[in-house]
Amino acid sequence: MTSPVTVTFLGGLGEVGRNCTVIEYEGRLIVIDFGLMFPSAVMPGVDVILPDDRYLQDRADRIDGLIITHAHEDHVGGVPYFFARYEAPLYGSALSMAIADHKLSEAGLGHMTSLNPVADGDTVKIGPFEVEFLPITHSVPQSMCIVVHTPQGVVVHTGDFKVDDTPIDNRLTDLRRLGALSEDPGIRLLLADSTNADSPGRSASESSIGETFRRLFPEYHDKRIIASCFASHLHRVQQLADVAIDQGRYVFPLGRSMVNNVRIARELGVLDIPERWIRPIDEVDSHPPEKVCVVCTGSQGEPMAALSLLAKGEQRTFGVGSDDMVLLTSSPIPGNERAVYSMIDALTRRGCEVVHSGMEHVHTSGHAKRDELRTFHNVVSPEWFIPIEGEFRMLRRHADLALDQGMDPDRVIVALDGDQISLTDRSVTKKGSLPHQYRYVQGRVESLDDIVLADRMILSKGGFVNISLTVDPDKGRIVSRPAISTRGWITEPHFEELESDLEKAVTEAVTKALDKGAVQLQQIEKVVRRTTGKFVADRTGRRPAILAQVHFTR
Ligand SMILES: [Zn+2]
Repeated sequence: MTSPVTVTFLGGLGEVGRNCTVIEYEGRLIVIDFGLMFPSAVMPGVDVILPDDRYLQDRADRIDGLIITHAHEDHVGGVPYFFARYEAPLYGSALSMAIADHKLSEAGLGHMTSLNPVADGDTVKIGPFEVEFLPITHSVPQSMCIVVHTPQGVVVHTGDFKVDDTPIDNRLTDLRRLGALSEDPGIRLLLADSTNADSPGRSASESSIGETFRRLFPEYHDKRIIASCFASHLHRVQQLADVAIDQGRYVFPLGRSMVNNVRIARELGVLDIPERWIRPIDEVDSHPPEKVCVVCTGSQGEPMAALSLLAKGEQRTFGVGSDDMVLLTSSPIPGNERAVYSMIDALTRRGCEVVHSGMEHVHTSGHAKRDELRTFHNVVSPEWFIPIEGEFRMLRRHADLALDQGMDPDRVIVALDGDQISLTDRSVTKKGSLPHQYRYVQGRVESLDDIVLADRMILSKGGFVNISLTVDPDKGRIVSRPAISTRGWITEPHFEELESDLEKAVTEAVTKALDKGAVQLQQIEKVVRRTTGKFVADRTGRRPAILAQVHFTR
C-alpha cells in the first residue's frame, strides 16, 4: 500500500487572488505559488491579503520548495512574506525567478533563498516528487503548467492559462506532452484555472491585439501615443514597441514596475527592443509628439500609478493635453470600473483622445474561456478534477463544464480555501477543512481577524464622537462637565449648535443614574454612550462611532 498524497488549498479557491496550493507526501511538502490579493472597498487601509499559511507554520522545517507558476502578483507577490518566515529553494521560469528576485531584494531578503530557474520541459526532483515544468500560454511570458509526479499518480496544476494558438513568442501550450501523460501513465488529478469558466467561446489570441495597434497607430500619426498596460504583460509591451518603432517612435517606459520589468525582460531576452529605440522618460519633452510612444502602468486607475498621475497633472516629468492619444490596452477588473472611468474622464478634460477596450479590440483575456477549457479537458482527460483559481461561481461553472464533458460526478470536487484532498490507492476524496481566514497586511502589522475593519467601515461612514467626563463616585456627582470632541461627524457650525444640548443631555442622564445609585464605571459609561448615541441619531440622523470615557476622582 502506498501512503496518501495530500493536497491542501491555502488560497485562491473562492476568490480571485492569493493563490497557494500545498502538495504533501509522508510529511514532506512542496508549495505551488504564494500570491497576493488586493483589498476590496470594504477593507479600508489594508495593503494586501495573503494566503492563510498557519498550516505551513506548523511544518516550516518540512518544506522542500516553493514553485512559482508565473510572474503575476496573485501568484508571486507574496514571495517576500513567504521567505520572511520560511526557508526553501524557489523554482520557476527565468522570468518568474528574476521578478521574484527583484521583490526579495526590494524587501531586503535577497539572501534568503536559492533561485532555481527551470526551462520548458525540465523535470526536477523536489522533495519526494518529480516536478515537470511545461509551457502554457497566459498574459505574462514563460508561464508554466506544473506536472507533479507523485507516488499516487500525476497531479497537473495549470497555474493561469489560456490556449493561445498564435502567441507572440511562438511558445505554445504543451498539449502534446499533456496528451501523452494522459495516455501513460494517466493523469490522476487536474487542478485548473477557472477565472473565465463563465465566459462562452474562446479568448482572442494575443497576436490579434497587435493587428489593432497596426491599424490604430497610423490614425493618430501626428499625436504622441501614451499606451498603458500591466507591467507584467510583456507581450503587450512587445507589440506596442514593434508598432511604435515601425512608425519611427521611440519607446519611453514609465512607472516604477514598468521600468523594472522592461529592464529585467530585456536582460533575459524576453523583450526585444533595440537599445537605440528605448529612451528615459526625462527626455520625453525634447521629442516631437509623432516620435514618442510612452508605455506606462496605471491601466486600472490605480491612484499612484503613472497614468493616474498624468490624468491628475501630477506626473513630475511631463503633462498631457491635446497632442496626446492615450491608449488603455486593458479592461477594468471588476471593482475598478469607477476609478478607470474617472481617470478617462480626467484625461479627456485635459484634451487627450482616449481609446480603450470598450471602443477597439485592444485587450484580450489571459484566461481560457469555455471552448478552450473544453479542449484542455479533452486533452488532459483526468481521472479526478478540482477547479481552482476563481470565485465560487466560477469554480462551480468549471465543475459543471467538466460534468458536461462526461466526467463522473463523484470525480469532480468543488473545494474551497482550507480544504484538504487525499489521494489514496483507492480514491481521491475531500478529507477535511482547516480553519481558514484572510491574512491581512497593513504596514508592518499582520492580522487574521477583521474586527478592526468593521470598526473602520463605521468610522468611514459616520466619523466618531468622543465624550468624557469625571465623576466623584463617593459623593455621587459629576465633577467636570462632559468634554466632547469629534472627527468626521459634522461640520463646525452645526456642531456648535448641538454641543451644549449634548452636554446637557449627558449631564442629566448621568446625574439621574447616579441618583439611582449607579456606582460602577462601566454602568456610567454605558449611560453616556447610549445617551450620546440617541442624541446624535435623533438630531443628525447620522451614526458615528461613539467613544465614552468616564473617570473617577479616586
Ligand atoms: Zn496570471
